[in-house]
Amino acid sequence: MAKIFCVANQKGGVGKTTTAVNLAAGLAQLEQRVLLVDLDPQGNATMGAGINKSGLEASVYEVMLGMADVTKARQHSVNGKFDVLPANRELAGAEVEMVELDNRETRLKSALATVDADYDFILIDCPPALSMLTLNGLCAAHGVIIPMQCEYYALEGLSDLVNTIKKVHAKLNPDLKIIGLLRVMFDPRMTLSQQVSAQLEQHFGDKIFKTIIPRNVRLAEAPSYGMPGVTFDPASKGAQAYIAFGAEMVERIKTL
Ligand code: ADP
Ligand code: MG
Repeated sequence: MAKIFCVANQKGGVGKTTTAVNLAAGLAQLEQRVLLVDLDPQGNATMGAGINKSGLEASVYEVMLGMADVTKARQHSVNGKFDVLPANRELAGAEVEMVELDNRETRLKSALATVDADYDFILIDCPPALSMLTLNGLCAAHGVIIPMQCEYYALEGLSDLVNTIKKVHAKLNPDLKIIGLLRVMFDPRMTLSQQVSAQLEQHFGDKIFKTIIPRNVRLAEAPSYGMPGVTFDPASKGAQAYIAFGAEMVERIKTL
């Protein structure tokens, strides 16, 4: 039985995709069987895993609309040892097209149930909005990983996400919980980062992951080579941090 996690934050550019792709690669290095689901029409996770998003035979879009099975749409990542359920711009239309369908919040959940036995972890890279796509991610998941930067406005908007998670938990998915907040793009030389980080620890306690992901240029360069940073430069500080985060997640799921 796979444990399913959404990487979500309604803000863009906060490190969701970098986290989803590199956690997938990090977990694969730890011999975990992983499926990375790209739920963002931008298809960044798809490309970051080395898959050409414009040449897809089937994608998460067809899967959610019931036109293709996950087993047909999934692909092996080019350089990582994990599978990918890819996405491209077509997915932007799914939102509207699903309005007419039954069980529109749980279409991804039903689809993932068909490959549940093939994986230890399924990671869902959510788009930067609290949309029907994100709702499908939240309905399919056991938990949410929230990446955030340690800056002054980091907490702003977090309450919207937390309220959405609470509503989904109450009405649609009683399994759903916040697994933790992950500090990303961390710059230890900045006093503000240190202060915000300390405040987060005080405020959220054990809901803050121990691993901190540093700002590291190798993580930012890797997607242009179609590789997760973990594969592109395994010795880099960013890669090492995501492998450590993978190990933390392997421990964490034992208590779920
Ligand atoms: P999101 O999916 O939330 O929009 P991304 O993961 O695409 O965010 O990250 C936004 C930008 O920040 C990208 O250009 C990415 O390469 C860069 N980035 C993310 N994490 C790091 C990091 N730890 N160090 C350096 N750059 C990062
Ligand atoms: Mg993204």
